[in-house]
Amino acid sequence: MPEGDTIFRTARALGRALIGRPITTFRSTYALLTRFNDDTPLAGQTVDRVESRGKWLLIHFSGGDTLATHMLMSGSWHIYRHGERWQQPRTNMRIVLENAEFVTVGFRVPVAKMLRPHELERALRIPPTIIDVLSDDFDANEVSGRLLKCRNEEIGDVLLHQETIAGVGNVFKSEICFVTATNPFCKVASLDLQRVTALIEAARRLVKANVLEDSGDAIVTYGGRKRRTTHESDPSASLWVYGRAGEPCRRCGERIRRRIQGPDARVTFWCQRCQPMPDGSNVDG
Ligand SMILES: [Zn+2]
Repeated sequence: MPEGDTIFRTARALGRALIGRPITTFRSTYALLTRFNDDTPLAGQTVDRVESRGKWLLIHFSGGDTLATHMLMSGSWHIYRHGERWQQPRTNMRIVLENAEFVTVGFRVPVAKMLRPHELERALRIPPTIIDVLSDDFDANEVSGRLLKCRNEEIGDVLLHQETIAGVGNVFKSEICFVTATNPFCKVASLDLQRVTALIEAARRLVKANVLEDSGDAIVTYGGRKRRTTHESDPSASLWVYGRAGEPCRRCGERIRRRIQGPDARVTFWCQRCQPMPDGSNVDG
């Protein structure tokens, strides 16, 4: 699943291609979007803003309406010049937005809705900006309050709740737990406030570090570069624990563990020595 930083970069790239340029063509294979466009043509409008909200990508049009897409596992947005060859088959195309310079294509976007202004916040489970790790409005106290309400859940699961803290995906979940020396399987109730604060701070820092501007004014397409949470310049050394089962911990040399966690059966990586359970027990992986 694309993580918050991937959606953020997609939004930034789409923004560069779309904002301020009159739309010349809108097409979709989704009947509801097509009907919306029949009633309220997007051609002739401009794009005012493109933003990520957790896992949602929002394209705001000058007419006041918003196209909200959710990538889930399969979706992606690509940006092409006119006449450039698409990287995916036409049959994967769900949405096309064109202007004089660019063709932006939503491939296999599984969820797409056009929203009137009053529908935006309530119609979708779009997280408010105050709990989005990439938003300037981010409110750590609000997030800490939401997180502490999940006291009987494991922290590794809670970090993935988009209604608790938005924008953290499965890769960062493991990395955030590692850098704060938190065992991903411990219950929220066993964490003190200082630990909760550190987790939230790490979530912001790690996810934000992955959206640092590194592409100048270039139009970059979906697919992005490698995530990085360590300070190593070698790309293969860019993550602390994620994807490293059986390899030595970069801090202590202990074997990195891997285990399926939670109701959604997401994979979790951790170091037993650097991330002990508060009561000293061990979780096997
Ligand atoms: Zn370790």
